[in-house]
Amino acid sequence: MVKAEGIHKYFGRLHVLCGIDLEVTSGEVMCVIGPSGSGKSTFLRCINHLEKIDSGRLWVDGHLVGYRQRGEKLHEMRESEVAAQRRDIGMVFQRFNLFPHMTALENIMEAPVQVKGESKAVVRERAMALLDQVGLSDKISAYPSQLSGGQAQRVAIARALAMEPKLMLFDEPTSALDPELVGDVLDVMRQLAVDGMTMVVVTHEMGFAREVGDSLVFMDGGAIVEQGNPRDVLAEPKHRRTQDFLSKVL
Ligand code: ATP
Ligand code: MG
Repeated sequence: MVKAEGIHKYFGRLHVLCGIDLEVTSGEVMCVIGPSGSGKSTFLRCINHLEKIDSGRLWVDGHLVGYRQRGEKLHEMRESEVAAQRRDIGMVFQRFNLFPHMTALENIMEAPVQVKGESKAVVRERAMALLDQVGLSDKISAYPSQLSGGQAQRVAIARALAMEPKLMLFDEPTSALDPELVGDVLDVMRQLAVDGMTMVVVTHEMGFAREVGDSLVFMDGGAIVEQGNPRDVLAEPKHRRTQDFLSKVL
């Protein structure tokens, strides 16, 4: 579903991604951990072309991200083509960024109606089912300011799912939440995983990574230092840098 080959990314002179190679298969849940500044968010943003890579190749669902290939040459896509590609990729951030002037239901309905041009009646049905799926059927008419952080984040997940994405990217979806609200959000993500969604999850929740992740990637300094089955990596990290990192967070 996602394939990265030799991804490099610079911000000015700062070399932020230094040759990332990885593959996420369909239905896989890949968790990504690593110290602050190691390039986790930047890599996620490259997957949906919110950041442009400087070299390497990146595919989502078999399609080159952001470029068209003609013969040997790559041509940059137009913004409208990039937008079309992004429709298949849901993204959930640390901060939920709900539209403050819209209810939970309206937030979820907005993109399918406005971007995909689907009928309101069809989308409303799906949005109600999604609110039910994230345990918030009683919050249909609530505005973001009337929701707890955990509820808002679950609405944000439902909003991403409303576009029926093939892939979901999560960037520390629970790190801005009070500890008692984290569990509900992780439960929604766990169920999504069980239902077969392909997910890349940047997280500090090692319990989630161990129980839900199919694979775990440890990044440091813009590179993948170690990768494997989450239980193995967490129990017996092979690399010194992974050991040091885990000794601080576990
Ligand atoms: P954290 O755990 O703190 O979220 P991260 O692993 O997600 O960290 P990134 O946000 O990907 O790290 O940042 C990687 C490096 O790139 C950092 O040194 C950061 O300062 C730098 N960086 C990120 N975005 C930009 C930008 N838009 N312009 C310049 N530098 C940036
Ligand atoms: Mg980050």
